[in-house]
Parts: sequence; structure tokens; C-alpha cells
Amino acid sequence: MHFKTQGKCVGCKEKYAPAKGKTHLLKCADALRFLRSQAKLEEGYLVRISWAEQPNMYWMLTAVSKSLTLGDLDQFLRDAWLECCGHLSEFIIEGRRYMSHTESGNPSQSMKKQVGQIFSSNLKFEYVYDMGSSTELVLQVLKTIEACPQKKVTLLMQNDPPSFLCEICKKQSQILCSLCGDTTCNHCSKRHSCAEQEEDTYMLMPLVNSPRTGVCGYEGKT
Ligand SMILES: [Zn+2]
Ligand SMILES: [Zn+2]
Ligand SMILES: [Zn+2]
Ligand SMILES: [Zn+2]
Repeated sequence: MHFKTQGKCVGCKEKYAPAKGKTHLLKCADALRFLRSQAKLEEGYLVRISWAEQPNMYWMLTAVSKSLTLGDLDQFLRDAWLECCGHLSEFIIEGRRYMSHTESGNPSQSMKKQVGQIFSSNLKFEYVYDMGSSTELVLQVLKTIEACPQKKVTLLMQNDPPSFLCEICKKQSQILCSLCGDTTCNHCSKRHSCAEQEEDTYMLMPLVNSPRTGVCGYEGKT
């Protein structure tokens, strides 16, 4: 099933689907005012970040300042969506791999490079968190922007949590089974069939607003 979620503009608070949100942000006076009101400004980029598997379900539109390093961007992605147990991650940009943990003698590059040395309009690239149970993201540089809060990623729009219904009672669900992928409400999770005994509920994970929900030990923002 393909989900399409909406997100709220940080400036005018209106809600948009991801494609419309992008066009909107480029001309929203309130969003521009919000960016310009930050203490220190520099040039940067409007960047769309989305889940590779369902780009219109989990997505963010962000302002990324040019002095930020790939390592800083990696940290932002971990904090916002991904971090469970310190897995390896990498950016794959125009055939080059930039890894979070590099050993000497490894031909891949570290994440110390600043995005200003790499990014340009329309650049599209991949990011992978965890080489085992991977979560893959796609990042796209949409446009350069003049006034971007310095040395940070500023969130301008993010998807609202997609609404999943309980497989049993059809009410709003809060739990995801990491074994079968079923979603259930708190109440019905007590008789979910993957849990053979009442205490044996390790596979039941909180449903959180992230492409990593239900994967490895991810339990949401820390
Ligand atoms: Zn707006
Ligand atoms: Zn993990
Ligand atoms: Zn239920
Ligand atoms: Zn299950």
C-alpha cells in the first residue's frame, strides 16, 4: 500500500503534500521570515529527505547550511529518524561513498567534508543507516537558498504520522509487530498471534513517526 502524508509549513502552518510543499516553501513569505529571523545566517540549500521505499510517506523538507559537514547531516538524520544502536551509515554521492566509521586504508571517504563542497541544485543521492537491517533514504538538493541558519539543519516541513489501523478492531494503532508487520492498538496487542506467551512480546514495538519504526531496536526519538 502506498501512503501519502501531509506536513505543516513552519511559517504559515498550512498543510501540504510533499510535492506541493516544496513549491510552497520556495514562495512562502512566513517561512522565509522564519529563516531570516535566526541569529546567524549563511547560504545553504533546500533539501528534501525521504524514505527510499515510500518517499511520500516519511519525508522532510529542510534548510541545510553550506558549512555543515556530512557528519553533521548524518547526526541530524540519526536524531530525527534512525538512531537505535550506533550502526554504521553512509552517503553515496555520485559514485563516492562517505562512511560514518572509516578505518585507515579504507578507500571510502570520511564525513568531514562540508556540504558546500559537494551539493548543487538537483543533486540526488542515497543514504543508508545500518548495513544489516538497512533503512535507506533519498536526499535531493532542490535549490540554493540565501539565508539559512548557520551550521545546522532547519526543519521546514515534516510529514504528519501516517495513520495505521488496528488489524483486529480497526481503531487507531500504536503498536507494530516487527515479525509480521501487522499493526495493532494497545489493547489488541495483548492477543497478537506472534506473541506465543503473554510475556513473550519482544516483537511488539511502538509505532513511531519514522521510516525505522519496527526495525532493530528503534523506539523513536531519544
Ligand atoms: Zn508556508
Ligand atoms: Zn539497531
Ligand atoms: Zn485493536
Ligand atoms: Zn506479528
